[in-house]
Amino acid sequence: MPGKRVVFLGPPGAGKGTQAKQVVAKLGLLHLSTGDLLRDEVARKTELGEKAKGVMDRGELVPDALIIDMIRGRLSGARNGFLLDGFPRTVAQAEALAGITDLDAVVNISLPRDEVVRRLTARRVCRGCGAIYNLTFNLAAEESKCRACGGELYQRDDDRPAVIENRYDVYEKSTAPLIAFYSRRSLLHSVDGRLGSDAVLAEILRILGA
Ligand code: ADP
Ligand code: ADP
Ligand code: ZN
Repeated sequence: MPGKRVVFLGPPGAGKGTQAKQVVAKLGLLHLSTGDLLRDEVARKTELGEKAKGVMDRGELVPDALIIDMIRGRLSGARNGFLLDGFPRTVAQAEALAGITDLDAVVNISLPRDEVVRRLTARRVCRGCGAIYNLTFNLAAEESKCRACGGELYQRDDDRPAVIENRYDVYEKSTAPLIAFYSRRSLLHSVDGRLGSDAVLAEILRILGA
């Protein structure tokens, strides 16, 4: 049986990356995080990275055409299914995606604005392996190294209060309309992102029939 084709939807900080890592490990899907791909382009100072950096630092969206080009080729190689994390983020991206592939499920992880701000100001990420931590629930203040790989933990440039607020506004305006878009296509499943991460994972696996 071919692998599942899944999209994670939700505001910044809802837990998409945290859950995606566990779900792809369990189901053998290809994990495509457009945020991670873009940060890699920025770090390598590619042409795309140079175009994306300023936009990302302000918490705005990178233009649709650049994102669609970045994702198209990678999707065609995903024969055992995929999990899209952070894409699509606009109706135009969702329409382009529909022209590339069918989907089996869209999982919408919800989280209210105040909790988004709380979580993202406390987020720390490993520069080596991308592991995601949080100072309020699984990282002590004095810890500076990743438990998985020993890499340096850092705070993302866009995880600052003013940028976080703007990212949430951008989410509400440009991305939240995708809830209705996928609901009309009978693909939408919703999960309460306020739950503990084990409960969120169990709910996602139930939705995916795993
Ligand atoms: P988070 O995990 O906090 O939601 P991401 O890592 O997904 O953030 O995205 C970081 C930034 O990268 C976004 O604020 C945006 O500038 C850019 N980005 C990521 N995915 C997309 C996309 N699908 N369309 C446009 N911009 C994107
Ligand atoms: P997203 O990819 O949606 O932006 P992340 O997976 O990066 O979200 O999670 C955002 C922050 O919230 C991280 O610091 C992460 O450790 C933390 N986090 C993720 N899931 C939960 C949860 N269920 N409860 C509390 N904190 C969480
Ligand atoms: Zn690491």
